Amino acid sequence: MKGRSLSSEHELQVLNPATEEVVATVPAASPQDVDAAVVRATKAQADWAARAPGDRARLLRRFATVVDDHVEELALLEVREAGHVIGNARWEAGNVRDLLDFAAGGVERLSGRQIPVAGGIDVTFLEPLGVVGIIAPWNFPMPIAAWGTAPALAAGNAVILKPAETTPLTALRLAELALEAGLPEHLFQVLPGAGPVAGNALVEHPGVAKVVFTGSTAVGKQVLAKGSALLKRVTLELGGKSPNIVFADADLEAAAAAAPMSFLDNSGQDCCARTRILVQRSVHDRFLELLAPAIESVVVGDPADEKTAMGPLISKVQLERVRSYVAADAQGISGAAPEGPGFWFPPTVLTDVDPHARVAVEEVFGPVAVVLPFEDEADAVRLANDTPYGLAGSLWTRDVGRALRVSRAVRAGNLSVNSHSSVRYWTPFGGFKQSGLGRELGPEALAAFTETKNVFISTEA
Ligand code: NAD
Repeated sequence: MKGRSLSSEHELQVLNPATEEVVATVPAASPQDVDAAVVRATKAQADWAARAPGDRARLLRRFATVVDDHVEELALLEVREAGHVIGNARWEAGNVRDLLDFAAGGVERLSGRQIPVAGGIDVTFLEPLGVVGIIAPWNFPMPIAAWGTAPALAAGNAVILKPAETTPLTALRLAELALEAGLPEHLFQVLPGAGPVAGNALVEHPGVAKVVFTGSTAVGKQVLAKGSALLKRVTLELGGKSPNIVFADADLEAAAAAAPMSFLDNSGQDCCARTRILVQRSVHDRFLELLAPAIESVVVGDPADEKTAMGPLISKVQLERVRSYVAADAQGISGAAPEGPGFWFPPTVLTDVDPHARVAVEEVFGPVAVVLPFEDEADAVRLANDTPYGLAGSLWTRDVGRALRVSRAVRAGNLSVNSHSSVRYWTPFGGFKQSGLGRELGPEALAAFTETKNVFISTEA
């Protein structure tokens, strides 16, 4: 069966984006299912929080080990449901393992403070929030689910995870592996379902203390507005239109070699994709000469093939969305893409673009970047900041002073110098401006799933 609609009210159809074949059909959760899950999670959380920290840490480590034993299986599932290239998919499953290990190491280190006071002792406790709802997107189904789940569980919470409609399978498998590892039943539940139904039910549920949302800025704003009616804790990880700033003094060969995968990785469906390539005018033409062969040589095709660098887009909807940004007569560099079934779009770099054109301003979430020239450092910073987003950015220069000045001046949460790397589970991640609210990962990851309680004990009584 090919190209059928993605879901109905009661079930979700998972398509292989490289072939359009149906991979699986899974039930879609209703608001009543969410209610029942919250009741079960509330009970499981109370038992979990009461356990010795060492026990919780041991179980999370065991969960990490079981995930490690299933890396290949999880990776192949991600190739089938999300079209990720196999090398990336293996890394993503390994990232879940690492996140669990990292969080497990924090359980016994989740210390409060002792604060000097007169007449007694003052101590703080980092108390779990209760039930945490995680609404995950389809672009990195496993890592983003685990970014929230691992620290939330480690801090003593229960988790209800709602994966994206198109990619529920790895999340469902992770829930099975959690049980296999010995995690208590109902502590980590996965409820696939439609965003406006199951996702919204989590946001509106008074029994869910915190919502971690990753997805579009438009839906993120709704989640924040609805969550705030209940004073719910909300973390938002939203869109981006990140700059890749290439100064004339940079190693141009290195900058041009790295630029393609900075926006083509995961077919551009990456909130950190460096889709605005800002190049100093004096080296603009030379940079394009170097960039063209690098783009044209990117291997696009079967994601299960080890040689493939870029796979398909996630869905027909996403393909149409990406197409709408690229005019038939657009100027630039274009790579190759397969024909026939599957949601394919070629690597595309647009030149001679109006900086105010939709494609230069909006998040495309596909393998499309624009090249814009700038005059000097001040102009580069102005252009880099000329966006409502502020998630990530890169800059290429050999001048250390400039690297630091520009890193500080760009209003974004994650900057890289002479590199495009911005996500490590042990460093903080999140957005400025309309790219989000709050931080995930890093040394404070567990604390973000707690409330600080202050207790004063009198020594005078
Ligand atoms: P989306 O925001 O609609 O979906 C993200 C998640 O939110 C999914 O799990 C979805 O089911 C859920 N959701 C949708 N509506 C909801 C609601 N009313 N209440 C609660 N949860 C809800 O994103 P999309 O439609 O899948 O993609 C659209 C665009 O969003 C993309 O083209 C891209 O620009 C952006 N996006 C960004 C990220 C990111 O990592 N920041 C991830 C996915 C999509």
